[in-house]
Amino acid sequence: MQHFPIFVALAGRRVVLSGGGDAALAKLRLLMKTEAHLTVFAPSPAPEIVAWAEAGRLRLVERAMEPGDATCAVLFYAADEDANEDARTVAIARADGALTNTVDNLGDSQFITPAIVDRDPVTVAIGTEGAAPVLARAIKADLEERLPARLGLLARVGKAFRKAADALPFGRPRRDFWSDYYFADGPRAVDGIEDADAEDAARAALDGLLSRHLAAEERPGHVAFVGAGPGDPELLTLKARKLLDAADVVIHDRLISPEILELARREAEMLDVGKQGFGPSASQSDINELIVKHVEAGAQVVRLKSGDPTVFGRLDEEVEAVTARSLSYSVVPGITAASAAVATIGQSLTKRERNASVRLLTGHDMKGFADHDWAALARPGEVAAIYMGKKAARFIQGRLMMHGAAPDTPVTVVENASRADQRVLGSTLATLPADIAAAEMNGPALVLYGLAPRAAETALPSIDTSFKAQEAL
Ligand code: SAH
Repeated sequence: MQHFPIFVALAGRRVVLSGGGDAALAKLRLLMKTEAHLTVFAPSPAPEIVAWAEAGRLRLVERAMEPGDATCAVLFYAADEDANEDARTVAIARADGALTNTVDNLGDSQFITPAIVDRDPVTVAIGTEGAAPVLARAIKADLEERLPARLGLLARVGKAFRKAADALPFGRPRRDFWSDYYFADGPRAVDGIEDADAEDAARAALDGLLSRHLAAEERPGHVAFVGAGPGDPELLTLKARKLLDAADVVIHDRLISPEILELARREAEMLDVGKQGFGPSASQSDINELIVKHVEAGAQVVRLKSGDPTVFGRLDEEVEAVTARSLSYSVVPGITAASAAVATIGQSLTKRERNASVRLLTGHDMKGFADHDWAALARPGEVAAIYMGKKAARFIQGRLMMHGAAPDTPVTVVENASRADQRVLGSTLATLPADIAAAEMNGPALVLYGLAPRAAETALPSIDTSFKAQEAL
């Protein structure tokens, strides 16, 4: 950053400008928004400048600048649009102790004027250090559209009301009050109201809002069990984003990607219950207790789980802990790893005339390798998405082959599905354990039994034939 943005106090202080043409006019229009004492030196000023001087908005001296003319000035603008004259006036102003800006000359300027979105007292300054004025204009236009035109007025009235609002308890209740004012009740109250009456309308809205908030019962705690999806932040639901944005506490697993955690409100307390350290001690009952503790304290808790919370997520234990204390909760679905993995390889989980059902399996459960209806799964055309299946690959292979599954049944392993480091391993039932070992996968991986990556369907003849045979059934 070559230029550091600051807001300079100009009320009652001196700002000097040299120039009387278009460049001077543009800068003066901005400067007249401030409460600075403006002095303009111009041998032949534009009629607008003469008019402003007559109206008392600035002091006009109809001659070229001379040494001593910028004494006590905080800022000086060289706006003669003539390189030699600008250099001359800048030298005078610097000798007089002012910070100088030469219009349209970044290199010679000690400070630059940003593009401004003015909702006084709310001011947004946009600078690109001269790199991309087009970008600055686009950002300005975007903000102009987005910020309510009466935001400044709302902020002024709001500022005067801060003492009254202190009647609300500090923290969330006060935050909720102000956010209702600025983003709901305030803009609604002044919408379509004449300027002269707008302040009174905003003030009335504040009074009404305050009595409503004072009367309202304190918002009870709540936990949302939220699916964070497979890792790509763009695969979050809008609801998940909103809840993260409003959370007081976020309790998350190890598998949640940092880009997603970034989306949580900056003030939110982030609790990692999957990390080593907290790790071995963060048993399921500890996690349940942690959720209950924060909800009972009145917090808006987001319990963030990878994928979909209802798929191998131990959701029920946590919900039961919460309902046992009659606390309020909601469940927000997410995209499960199986959906992300099949999307990656261009296949469907179900397909007409191949499989009318699909199984979501876990490779191992609390007691070890998980048992399933292997005989049913071994039939041709079956598809299963196997979670936590890497370590169980040999066990799964043994059971399926024992029940007559074809050794060349396609199996695809997708590691880190939807993330930047995603990998796809095309394999078959016969070679699965060896292929997984050789691939050295460290990330979460989903085993898609009965599916080959779409491109491989034609590339690998053995898989191709088995597929055709299965589809013919
Ligand atoms: N609730 C999660 C599953 C939790 S169990 C969901 O709906 O996706 C954890 C297992 O999910 C991992 O062992 C792995 O098999 C799978 N998994 C989670 N995220 C994954 C990802 N991005 N890519 C591949 N598999 C993933």
